[in-house]
Amino acid sequence: MKYGAIIIGAGPAGLFAANELADSLKVLVIDKKSIVGGAGAVTDGKLNLSTKIGMDLDELKLSEEEAKKLIRVIDKIFLENGADPTLSGTNLEEVNKLVKKAAKHDVELISAEQRHMGSDSTHKIMKSFKNKLESKGIEFMLNTEVVKIKKNEDAFFVSNGKEVFKSKYLLVCPGRSGAYWFRAQAKELGIATLYGPIDVGVRVEIPAEVYDPITNILYDPKFKLETRCHRDKVRTFCTNPRGRVRIERDQEYKLINGDALKKMKTDNTNFALLYTISLTEPMGDTTEFARAIITYMSQMGKGKPLVQRWGDLERGRRSKIETFFDKNCGYNKLKPTLEVGSQVCPADLSLGYAGRIIDNIKETITVLDRIVEGIAHPSTLLYAPEIKFYDTKYPTSKDLETSVKNLFVAGDGAGKSRGIVGAALTGILAAHGIKKK
Ligand SMILES: Cc1cc2nc3c(=O)[nH]c(=O)nc-3n(C[C@H](O)[C@H](O)[C@H](O)COP(=O)(O)OP(=O)(O)OC[C@H]3O[C@@H](n4cnc5c(N)ncnc54)[C@H](O)[C@@H]3O)c2cc1C
Repeated sequence: MKYGAIIIGAGPAGLFAANELADSLKVLVIDKKSIVGGAGAVTDGKLNLSTKIGMDLDELKLSEEEAKKLIRVIDKIFLENGADPTLSGTNLEEVNKLVKKAAKHDVELISAEQRHMGSDSTHKIMKSFKNKLESKGIEFMLNTEVVKIKKNEDAFFVSNGKEVFKSKYLLVCPGRSGAYWFRAQAKELGIATLYGPIDVGVRVEIPAEVYDPITNILYDPKFKLETRCHRDKVRTFCTNPRGRVRIERDQEYKLINGDALKKMKTDNTNFALLYTISLTEPMGDTTEFARAIITYMSQMGKGKPLVQRWGDLERGRRSKIETFFDKNCGYNKLKPTLEVGSQVCPADLSLGYAGRIIDNIKETITVLDRIVEGIAHPSTLLYAPEIKFYDTKYPTSKDLETSVKNLFVAGDGAGKSRGIVGAALTGILAAHGIKKK
């Protein structure tokens, strides 16, 4: 057999797995993109160096100490490949003041040490990592989309429609962009799957000076609360101080996201506000639920994502292009980083999202405004759909081996992580599992 292991997906999960396997197996990493790093390569590159963010230790059956050790290894590799050594979240006195202030409003603030690579640097850091892996003998095949996975008793056969590659072990780390594809493959391969919760919400954009007092202490503050209206869990996620709202490019649908550059800063800060939805019978399939929302919103915006001023949402009005910058409403105080009209469509989010989602968003913004005064200014911008697909779960062993022998999964696309560090950590765990065999 030519390869000991094939890794599908050269995102953080795939790259860190390849690094662990380099000294013991002949490894091929396949990715449909022309560059490595996955979603992690084109993103803001915030490294959340905490066991409380981007991973679930219970799901991973991992102790706090084991996870911390791996996070240190991951951080070291990012630093060796050029990540900025500056750390945020280290001023514990200031962090604790914020934690206490949030607690007064029944909001939990999760603090963590964070490193920001920046969208203009992350891809270079990933490229440097790839060069090191190649020098250790790892083979890469980019611009190659795997369309089919087959197996027999001893091997896996991975096909791109033209060629077939054979290996003893298979590690699938398809990220969110490949999650739907892998779900179909998993079904055919007989891999056990479960429906997990999905995160649905909006991206909030505000003037940077409103959030500076917080983001100067914690680059990506994670506020978490349980809403009184529905007793649902809502949290802030992926804050980009002085960053840009973005439309995710490699998705079948247009989804909202955000990032920040290291060198060029904007006057705005954005963050996601996400509500975690679990569904039960008869509609347990959270992926299909979210896809239906996206399809509907896409129709509303004629193919464009939607945007609404907070002032309009509060008053139950649609945002319109004619009044989008209306001085009388205070809307001239905040200029969106996306072009209204050509990139995003002014709309009424309460027509696109179900009432429960809107209730949760409204309550959370109102509560956050008590901690960060100014969030609930009428000019505040809300973009949608912002949806995170990590919802199909694959029951695995501690080594991330699925119910199919020798087939391992890692990263966001397998519901094992929610971020770069978490994905990298699960890649290492899967590689350890393969090595043990
Ligand atoms: C705009 C944006 C900003 C973000 N900002 C941050 C941040 O600041 N901090 C953070 O921690 N996280 C951030 N994230 C999330 C982060 O990028 C992901 O959590 C992380 O990249 C997941 O790693 P992964 O290896 O699981 O998957 P990915 O990075 O998604 O990699 C999966 C790879 O698999 C490939 N693939 C999928 N299917 C196939 C197939 N059939 N054949 C071949 N290749 C395939 C894809 O092309 C991709 O390269 C951001 C994401 C986005 C989109």
